Amino acid sequence: MLTLENIRYEQDGFVLRADFSLRPEARVAVIGPSGAGKSTLLSLIGGFITPQSGRLLWDGQNITQNTPSARPVANLFQEGNLFPHLSVYENAALGVNVSLRLSAAEKARVHGALERVGLAGFEARKPAQLSGGQASRAALARALCQDKPLLLLDEPFAALGPALRREMLDLVGEIATEHRRAVLMVSHEPRDATQFAQAVIVVAEGVAEAPQDTATLFAKPPKALRAYLGDD
Ligand code: ADP
Repeated sequence: MLTLENIRYEQDGFVLRADFSLRPEARVAVIGPSGAGKSTLLSLIGGFITPQSGRLLWDGQNITQNTPSARPVANLFQEGNLFPHLSVYENAALGVNVSLRLSAAEKARVHGALERVGLAGFEARKPAQLSGGQASRAALARALCQDKPLLLLDEPFAALGPALRREMLDLVGEIATEHRRAVLMVSHEPRDATQFAQAVIVVAEGVAEAPQDTATLFAKPPKALRAYLGDD
């Protein structure tokens, strides 16, 4: 379980506070106005930035100063971050070992991940030879290969059309359930949250709120969320 304990992060006058825990295997959406700090929250959890005060705990262990690779966290960014000169197989294999020197069992894991995301037979292709949806699947395979209990997604499928995005969200949800991973996903689309997430973190006015039940939250949105949804 991930706990953010009295986290306070400040940069250039921007402040973000967080004080909550995430349940294991939960699927949680992070929503809120542009510039509110959604990406900042994920960067704090991923270890790309460090809070001025407060602690991050994983199963009670303090990981506040851990480097990104020493955290129980895999990242999937909007662009997917595929390396253009590497094949689909190599891009996914980076999730296992950045040296790309893999044992037989590790190679099997990469092939298994590619098969699971629907890219069996595409191993030798370069990213330029993939559609947008296939590139998203390759990036997801790499995140899956990282074998970490918490997956952080920052607007991962924003470049895809609505139908493809829904398909990818379903796939992430299925994979998270199969592999017993927790998922924290930033989205600009409130509908993504209702489709995908059991709970929602609202980031607004300098605070990342504790996760709230999705259906309850959308049935009776608080003021900050109403403003964001445009219902005011
Ligand atoms: P969101 O993801 O909700 O749109 P961000 O976390 O990206 O919000 O941004 C939070 C605040 O941090 C904003 O005030 C933004 O302008 C600022 N910010 C974001 N990225 C950077 C950066 N690389 N350098 C300086 N300030 C940044």
